[in-house]
Amino acid sequence: MVTTQELIALLQEAESDIEIYENEPMSRHTTFAIGGPADVFIQPKTVGALQNALRCLRQTETPYLMVGNGSNMLVSDAGVRGAVVCTAEMDHIAVGTRGRITAGAGALLSAIARRAQREGLTGAEFAGGIPGSLGGAVFMNAGAYDGQMALIVRRTEYLDGEGNLCMAEGPENAFGYRKSIFRDHPEWTIVRAELELAEGDPAAILLKMNDLAQRRREKQPLNYPSAGSTFKRPEGHFAGQLIEQCGLKGLSVGAAQVSEKHAGFLINRGGATCADMLKLIETVQNRVREAFGVQLECEVRIIG
Ligand SMILES: Cc1cc2nc3c(=O)[nH]c(=O)nc-3n(C[C@H](O)[C@H](O)[C@H](O)COP(=O)(O)OP(=O)(O)OC[C@H]3O[C@@H](n4cnc5c(N)ncnc54)[C@H](O)[C@@H]3O)c2cc1C
Repeated sequence: MVTTQELIALLQEAESDIEIYENEPMSRHTTFAIGGPADVFIQPKTVGALQNALRCLRQTETPYLMVGNGSNMLVSDAGVRGAVVCTAEMDHIAVGTRGRITAGAGALLSAIARRAQREGLTGAEFAGGIPGSLGGAVFMNAGAYDGQMALIVRRTEYLDGEGNLCMAEGPENAFGYRKSIFRDHPEWTIVRAELELAEGDPAAILLKMNDLAQRRREKQPLNYPSAGSTFKRPEGHFAGQLIEQCGLKGLSVGAAQVSEKHAGFLINRGGATCADMLKLIETVQNRVREAFGVQLECEVRIIG
């Protein structure tokens, strides 16, 4: 391991197409608005820059965490030692022939869904209200209503642990409920994906997107920082329903709270710490297990 200053100097020498920040608060990069500082926060602008930055991190044996839009993670109050590599700047979206859209790992799903709508391509409407990046969505096999990434991802391009550019075609992505092959290979980094959509009527697509957005606004506490559904759906149940039936709506630890609007969402009412949120998660898990014998598993990735 090298010191933070040495690492920054090495990164600057290796690559100019990256932004580098020291001691960057992760609360600025997570939708929970929780998380202490990352020693070094890196935003590459191109795949080549990402490759160079990762090579530098490997050579210096610096641990690193990949982040897309930070909408599915809870980062510790102590922050992240080593580096955080964020794909936000790798957000290009290109429309090809035969319903294909290729986008960088950092492209937001909302931007991809809007672009697909304008191009008269259907299949990505479900993704319009998911506040994640394409890379994070492939990693988690994000899904909502009648859709999931598994249904539209034709090919994923990624860097393996040695920095080689590789491809996973359709089934090779091994999508399952909120998982993909990338969850089993934390050393792999998604750099872009090609989606395959079908031709559709732009007006009908827009209508569907607006309807799904309206349903979210009605049911979800979108005016508070959160990471969406905190828990995975337990087999045969809905996490929110079980939590509500335990009478836990509104339960708080510090400024972390079980949403009054949707019990499946734990929210940050302002200034919640990671410790508050973890305590609340544990309390909810214990109460649901005692009442129903069901173990709620976190969907949110806990970092640190
Ligand atoms: C209000 C709200 C509503 C939500 N609704 C939904 C929903 O309906 N359905 C749903 O599935 N999810 C939902 N989510 C959760 C979240 O938006 C999704 O899981 C999303 O796909 C996460 O993407 P991200 O870019 O934010 O990932 P991050 O939180 O940045 O990362 C998630 C994981 O992916 C890894 N990762 C990120 N980028 C890469 C990469 N390029 N290469 C390798 N690994 C990477 C990270 O290391 C981390 O382990 C919601 C969240 C919020 C806040």
